[in-house]
Amino acid sequence: MSSRNERKRRPLPTIPLVIGALLALILVVVTAILVDRSLRAVWLDDLDADLERLALVAAETLDATGHQEWATGVSRAGAVRVTLIDAGGVVLADSHQDPAIMENHGDRPEVISALSGEVGVATRVSVSTGIEQRYVALPPVDGLVVRVSTSTGSIAEDYRRTQGVIVRVSLLVALAAVVGMALLVRRLVRPVAVLADHAQALARGRLDTDPPRSPVAELDRLGMALTEIARDLGGRMVEAERASGTLEFVLGAIPQGTILFDSEDRVVYANPAARQILGSVPEALGALTPFQLQTSVREAREGGVPVVRMADHGRPARRLRATAVPFEGDDRVLLVVVDVTERERLDAMRRDFVANASHELKTPVATIIAASEAIQIALSRDDPSAVGFASQIETSARQLDRLVNDLLDLSRLEQETPDLLPLDLSQIVGEEVGRFLKRAKDNGVTLVADLSKAPILGSRRDLAAATRNLLDNALRHTPRGGEVRVDVGVLDDQAVLILTDTGEGIPTRDVGRVFERFYRVDSARSRTTGGTGLGLAIVRHVAETHGGTVGVESELGRGSVFTVKIPHRG
Ligand code: ADP
Repeated sequence: MSSRNERKRRPLPTIPLVIGALLALILVVVTAILVDRSLRAVWLDDLDADLERLALVAAETLDATGHQEWATGVSRAGAVRVTLIDAGGVVLADSHQDPAIMENHGDRPEVISALSGEVGVATRVSVSTGIEQRYVALPPVDGLVVRVSTSTGSIAEDYRRTQGVIVRVSLLVALAAVVGMALLVRRLVRPVAVLADHAQALARGRLDTDPPRSPVAELDRLGMALTEIARDLGGRMVEAERASGTLEFVLGAIPQGTILFDSEDRVVYANPAARQILGSVPEALGALTPFQLQTSVREAREGGVPVVRMADHGRPARRLRATAVPFEGDDRVLLVVVDVTERERLDAMRRDFVANASHELKTPVATIIAASEAIQIALSRDDPSAVGFASQIETSARQLDRLVNDLLDLSRLEQETPDLLPLDLSQIVGEEVGRFLKRAKDNGVTLVADLSKAPILGSRRDLAAATRNLLDNALRHTPRGGEVRVDVGVLDDQAVLILTDTGEGIPTRDVGRVFERFYRVDSARSRTTGGTGLGLAIVRHVAETHGGTVGVESELGRGSVFTVKIPHRG
């Protein structure tokens, strides 16, 4: 901080007031001195005239002898000191002292003047008396100088009184001048102070404050102009704040990461999505990762056209698509970063699904075509094997039918959000178990069910499809003599469907993947037993759309346990 800023600020009136007071004081003192001087001069003139008159009277009564008596007599009459001096300066008589012991007075200024023919006047402290005296000496009469003197002290009493009056009046005048000046300054400065207060109020944002009206036209105009400027500015600021607030809101809401770089590669703005996608946003381009993002910004600035780059970032790796867009007219660059990991994953899933579905469809279709050709040949030769080929066609057609049905189920499940209604899971499962009883019996498998009430919010059709798939799997994978058990009930506030079989089980390495679409432990076997590879994918989908889960525990050669859990409707 500079000393200028630290200097104490005084309110405006103090300085002129202090200067004014000093000037008034100087003026008063000078005036008092001048008045005093002239008064003193007038007083001395009067005194001299009196002393001269007395000296003249005394001179007239002077005779040749009895000088000392004369001096004493005149002195008593005039209340003055009278001295008689001859042309040589010798004191012949003195009313107050013995002339014999008095020194020669020839060197006294008043005596010198008198001896030169003029009335001599002087003021000094008397050597003889030690008191300040005013001396008046007349030009010599018959060679003798008559000098009359009086003490200034006693006679100055009047003058001193007058002087006291002068001092008091001067002080009063000085005080009046200061007070008057203070009032004047206050009157002049007040409107400026009011204006300053008004400006401060405006600066603090109190824009509805009315401008102070002033009788001084310029100040009045200044107040109005200040208010107008502040209100105009305030309006613009509100608009600007609203615009920037809107922009901030929009950029904050969009899922794309947005970073703005200035011409010096500094980050001017980054929205929350950018921080979320990149983990953090540095202050400058040089620290931005992944590196491809930096390159895209630089290339866009150099080329003047948008640059798109893909990059992997973080762990687990996420796939980012960065688009750097250069500003027209300056070197700023806007970088938009999109996390496309999920989109790419879904794209890959869709591609896989189409490839798998095509492959699954192709096998029965190829069998049907081949069997049809074989039938034609067999029929032309009247060969009884035609019946066998017809049966192959039927099997493949049924496989196709199952596949198409499962695909339709899956696609419906993906597209529709089912209406979840209050129902009892045990009732749906019971109905489906009933449908499988005959097949179980035909397969030589015991199918038992223990069903307790399990109220949930669900879709009857979807839950039935999921149960069907689980039962179908259990029966397909459980050899003759085995057992399939179905339990439904409420456990830990969840409606639970448990399907246990004593079948072949699932190898440990495959357990985690059986719910994937088209995943099979043994494709050829699955197909020949009527599997589509979609059954468990449908089960998982149904469980998830009901807010639940599905899991499996299995041991190769001993059997599997599938558990579906759905939130219980209290
Ligand atoms: P699929 O129609 O081939 O049965 P799923 O999706 O229903 O297809 O099942 C996927 C794979 O999981 C099956 O190929 C099968 O190997 C295995 N699997 C499913 N249920 C059982 C079960 N109860 N016991 C043994 N393996 C099973």
